[in-house]
Amino acid sequence: MSGTIGSLQLDVLGAGPAYTDRAGASGAAYLLRHGPTSLLLDLGQGSFPRLAAALEPSSLDAVVISHLHPDHFIDLVALRHYLYWQFKPARRGRVLAPAGLSRRIDALHEDPGFTARSLDVEDVVPGIRAVGTLTVEARRVTHTDDSHAYRVAPDNGTGPGLVYTGDCGRAEDVDALIRAGDTLLSEVSFGPGPVQPGAIHLDGPAVAALAKRTGVGGVLLTHLQMGFDTSATIESVRATYDGPVTLVNPGDRFTIGA
Ligand SMILES: [Zn+2]
Repeated sequence: MSGTIGSLQLDVLGAGPAYTDRAGASGAAYLLRHGPTSLLLDLGQGSFPRLAAALEPSSLDAVVISHLHPDHFIDLVALRHYLYWQFKPARRGRVLAPAGLSRRIDALHEDPGFTARSLDVEDVVPGIRAVGTLTVEARRVTHTDDSHAYRVAPDNGTGPGLVYTGDCGRAEDVDALIRAGDTLLSEVSFGPGPVQPGAIHLDGPAVAALAKRTGVGGVLLTHLQMGFDTSATIESVRATYDGPVTLVNPGDRFTIGA
């Protein structure tokens, strides 16, 4: 069955951290497409326009949120407005997110029910579920109390997949999600390192060790905080991991498993 409806395609819509001086580096947003299925991982600040330029947002099968820090979900406000106001009758979207998302978005508007008028929000829990032709596996990682990494793969999860760390302070939490040959999309908040004491994030050496011990087919780096050198960050991963390493930017496109 592998590849019967084409390969898994990743479009990087936004790859920023919570704040940055890198022009155009909007918040986390990664669009995955496979055959008729489209799925978005996170929707951080400023990324809705790029989503709307990439596909009709109401056609998304699901938006999957890693954790409830606003740089990973705040443009759901724009998506909700779009679905509610742009169409008559209003359209609806499916969102998988840690518990409490609707309450937080409603609070921004001081309007209980604001979110539910156009978004069907489901609490994400660790485990496996289908989204269209894709299989999505969630696993808790160390960051907030309810943060998830995801593996998204075609062919009932048997095809080469993308593993997204979300924000993560302990790379070992991600090991069990990865199958050899997957592509790892990893946060590298602290560049070549070290991670600042008390910060619950990753640096290049931690990502490299994760990639090496799990046998991933390639590493895509993202969520680099302001002030870290991009070349030094990439080199810090290449120092111990032999596969391809790329620091992603909005507009980048990758075919997973190709
Ligand atoms: Zn975070």
